[in-house]
Amino acid sequence: MADLSALFAEAQNYIPGGVNSPVRAFKGVGGTPVFVDRAEGPYLFGADGRRYIDYVGSWGPMIVGHAHPEVLKAVHGAVDRGLSYGAPTPIETVMAKKLCELVPSMDMVRMVNSGTEATMSAIRLARGYTGRDRIVKFEGCYHGHSDSLLVKAGSGALTLGVPSSPGVPACLAEHTITLPFNDDDAVREAFSRLGGEIACIIVEPVAGNMNCVPPKPGFLETLRAVCDAHGSVLIFDEVMTGFRVALGGAQAHYGIRPDLTTLGKVIGGGMPVGAFGGRRDIMEKLAPLGPVYQAGTLSGNPVAMAAGLKTLELIAVPGFFEHLSEKTRYLVEGLRERASQTGIPLAANSVGGMFGLFFTGEKVVDSFDRVMACDQERFKRFFHAMMDEGVYLAPSAFEAGFVSAAHEFETLDQTLQAAERVFSRL
Ligand code: PMP
Repeated sequence: MADLSALFAEAQNYIPGGVNSPVRAFKGVGGTPVFVDRAEGPYLFGADGRRYIDYVGSWGPMIVGHAHPEVLKAVHGAVDRGLSYGAPTPIETVMAKKLCELVPSMDMVRMVNSGTEATMSAIRLARGYTGRDRIVKFEGCYHGHSDSLLVKAGSGALTLGVPSSPGVPACLAEHTITLPFNDDDAVREAFSRLGGEIACIIVEPVAGNMNCVPPKPGFLETLRAVCDAHGSVLIFDEVMTGFRVALGGAQAHYGIRPDLTTLGKVIGGGMPVGAFGGRRDIMEKLAPLGPVYQAGTLSGNPVAMAAGLKTLELIAVPGFFEHLSEKTRYLVEGLRERASQTGIPLAANSVGGMFGLFFTGEKVVDSFDRVMACDQERFKRFFHAMMDEGVYLAPSAFEAGFVSAAHEFETLDQTLQAAERVFSRL
């Protein structure tokens, strides 16, 4: 069995911080990250031989569980025919058609390789379409690490305390207007001053990068209304929420139709994939049809398409999301009850298969400020104690958690029993 500290020390010699994405380094909670050997169903197996019930799920994609036999079979079938061609393949059209069917606001879609690429490209397209430079985003929302969007961002940027990164030119960041999430008045006020200059609003319809914060009733409606009134493009960043909170994403769950949607995570089934799509008149501005340039050597990769399509097929079965939501609610309600029995104030949010836990006495956590006011030290202790119990949560108080179809009620009960033991000594 490998020693995790030795693996981490060796990795740090060659990889900045020993990781290829910052939150993996456990900076937010301290300690040594689990180096993973393999994963199956709801479990991660560490290189040290330990097994963990996994609520990270590769940060969202593994909605049918790890190493699902049908997904692996589809991948093997694709691999046997070659890894990449740099020319169109029929499966890309199958994927595009499937996405447009499942997300009715999308008339056309382009595949990319990550969520970052999807949002970066959607912003460029919105700017190209409107001929405007300014964009609106919300504090604590994370849309990947492209320059225009790495301003007051969530996720790792928040965990590491660098929400606006050095290296983002001030002349670019000044075009990004950052407003408080769930604050309708702030949105209306910004648009009444600058509406004619705003290319787009980009929003996580359920914020999942400052823990998990659903939209207040009416918030998404306000975004739709101001965009309509001022000719701005409404972009729902559904990289996390797409095929996670409902089959048609958060837009289906809340009944709001954005102009553009960005996707990632679940649609790749664990392979590196993103996509952006939406209204035909906007998408037709993209090269080669239109003047807005965007491209990708590996975009629409056949192996990634095979993994994603099979995953979409598995989650499209009737009742999938009802069942997933029920299990997620069971988990968070169970955690809340057990915490309150031991006198620990805990609030929880969940939408579909994503959830957030907050160590706070507040009943409702619906804003960035309320998230920031939660007890982060208690979260760190909770996180490590749960790890010791064999439960792997996101290693940051600012990340959402994910339940998969492979998490049976028995697995959830084991998690609740572990939490009960942990709360009693927290
Ligand atoms: N948008 C959202 C809402 C995300 O949650 C993420 C990643 N967690 C991204 C964009 C960026 O995606 P990626 O890490 O694949 O670049």
